[in-house]
Amino acid sequence: MIELTTQCCIVGGGPAGLVLGTLLARSGVDVIVLEKHADFLRDFRGDTIHPSTLQAMDELGFADELLHLPHEKAHLLRGILNGENILMADFSHLNTRYPFIAFMPQWDLLNFLARKASAYSHFRLLMRSEAKTLVREGGKIVGVEATSPEGNVSIRADLTVACDGRDSHMRAQAGLQPTVLGAPMDVLWFKLSRRDSDGSEPMGRFDAGRIFITINRNDVWQCGYVIAKGSFGQLQQRPISDLQQTIAEIAPPLADRVHEIASWDDVKLLTVAVDRLPVWHKPGLLCIGDAAHAMSPIGGIGINLAIQDAIATANLLALKLRDGAVQESDLAAVQKRREWPVRLTQWVQVTIQNRIIAPALGTKARGRAPWLLRHLHQIPVLRDLPARFVGIGVRPEHVTAPAMPPKK
Ligand SMILES: Cc1cc2nc3c(=O)[nH]c(=O)nc-3n(C[C@H](O)[C@H](O)[C@H](O)COP(=O)(O)OP(=O)(O)OC[C@H]3O[C@@H](n4cnc5c(N)ncnc54)[C@H](O)[C@@H]3O)c2cc1C
Repeated sequence: MIELTTQCCIVGGGPAGLVLGTLLARSGVDVIVLEKHADFLRDFRGDTIHPSTLQAMDELGFADELLHLPHEKAHLLRGILNGENILMADFSHLNTRYPFIAFMPQWDLLNFLARKASAYSHFRLLMRSEAKTLVREGGKIVGVEATSPEGNVSIRADLTVACDGRDSHMRAQAGLQPTVLGAPMDVLWFKLSRRDSDGSEPMGRFDAGRIFITINRNDVWQCGYVIAKGSFGQLQQRPISDLQQTIAEIAPPLADRVHEIASWDDVKLLTVAVDRLPVWHKPGLLCIGDAAHAMSPIGGIGINLAIQDAIATANLLALKLRDGAVQESDLAAVQKRREWPVRLTQWVQVTIQNRIIAPALGTKARGRAPWLLRHLHQIPVLRDLPARFVGIGVRPEHVTAPAMPPKK
């Protein structure tokens, strides 16, 4: 068994884990991040970098370099509702230096953060290293045991942070049980080729109870088709041509290439989950990001929330970790700061799920969009609400954890 010691062991190199690792290392905290995969090149998990995340990157002095990486800027989010064009969110009025969503492959963002963090000698990123067991001593979690290419590793840490996503093994190990809020839908993901003549904007299409979104990933459209929860098995009993025809009907400009969905093997299921932990911590352990609260895909804000959690955690804990003085009450302070933004965001998402998505999925009607939705962008006080909710979020966090050298 290889034995390592650190001030903070972060389990999971997703958006939450890598932002937290970067911020803590910048503040002079010795950090180990464990990531079970060999790289960040995994399938689609959201490519959105929101204005509030860009603002945080700016506060770190990273934004210009990040925005040199290939990306698409979306100043507007549009939808087509039963044939009618609707402006869903207009980020251009937001009071921020970055009034747009940057669509960038998530692996580019994660690679960028890993490179930035690696500039600090006391930051270690262990790839292909999977945390298996929490180590306990006298009622406190004091680290993890993990597998790695070099053999089993035991990491002793003042604090372990579970950033291991919505199926968090670490929170299960700690006996932390999320409260399930539920969702009436799942999402099918697949790709269709993209041509320059298609345009580049992301688009949501809502048509007679069917919901279809397309996200620009250069040469392909990443497509999401919303289905009633648990209905994928039934759909798969039908020929793939049924799905091809549905997509051709709802998105006529893409009808000439729906044959690219050649079989059900080309279609991936995202089981939508919405949940949150009643308590995010145990002595020596904190859960953040999806490990503390899986978000609905409505608004595409899971990444942003995970990053905001990481910023708040670093703001509240960096100096205490550096001085070796983190108490469980400090972990509770992180939950206190982030819980209500999560609760409010999930409340909005669940309300939309239950009031709009669930009834829509059960109907074939092609009614007009509600008057308020059609005219929202003409009413200044309401116009910015969707853009603020999606782009900035409830209680955006600013980086206040100072840049410090490690303590000798
Ligand atoms: C198909 C899909 C599409 C999505 N689309 C969007 C979108 O458009 N916009 C958006 O904002 N959000 C989207 N999301 C949600 C978003 O991906 C998450 O909210 C966000 O990634 C959460 O970040 P996180 O760091 O908390 O967890 P994750 O991103 O889940 O990262 C967890 C990391 O931990 C690693 N890990 C897990 N267990 C271990 C272990 N035991 N040891 C070591 N490493 C471990 C995993 O490999 C992973 O890298 C989508 C999610 C899915 C599944």
